[in-house]
Amino acid sequence: MFINFLRLLEDVFFPARCLNCQGRVERQELFCANCRRQLADIRFLFPSGYECKNLEGICIFYSYERGVKQALHKIKFEKARSLLPRAAEELKKVCCFVDLQESWKLPQPLFLVPVPTDKARQQERGYDIPTGIFKIWGEREQLIWYEALARVSSTVPQYGLTRTQRRRNVKNCFAVQKSVQERNILLVDDIFTSGATMEAAAKTLKKAGAKKIWGITFAGGAQV
Ligand SMILES: [Zn+2]
Repeated sequence: MFINFLRLLEDVFFPARCLNCQGRVERQELFCANCRRQLADIRFLFPSGYECKNLEGICIFYSYERGVKQALHKIKFEKARSLLPRAAEELKKVCCFVDLQESWKLPQPLFLVPVPTDKARQQERGYDIPTGIFKIWGEREQLIWYEALARVSSTVPQYGLTRTQRRRNVKNCFAVQKSVQERNILLVDDIFTSGATMEAAAKTLKKAGAKKIWGITFAGGAQV
């Protein structure tokens, strides 16, 4: 009762705002319906075009611009942990596993593997972004959450680097920490730009014996 009253006060004095247009939204959402329509941009990429030869397919759900860019920036650099479940909710609204399964003819069982974040950055933030966005979604879709990868070397942030520099930056930075032998994998990450990080992760998994790998990301750069 008291909690409900506090929630009511919070809604009146501090209503949740759309990260894109500042209009009012439900507390669990990032965007209003109108902005979601504008920002959701489901794209299936051809991995060969991105030198991602270890990936069978790549799918991006939101365009990395305006409210999406702002939300991820706050989550990444301003410790805005409260936005993470809201981003997860936005993923749930646009990412239908059945559609992915049909488009890619995905096999079962499928292991959902997050691309691990740099340890130091994760510790500083106190949370992991791909986990915060995708874990609840995966469990709801009855996929197996499987933290098979670890970062074994520190990297500098990919922002502002050229495509070649990005590839060099993430080269050999992952290692497997659980068996992936003969397993089919769906890699998840918060953002896709050059594809360098996802390809480095996929390459590590393939070397360790993974069968087939697909990748999905919450957002992708406008130039993609
Ligand atoms: Zn809006």
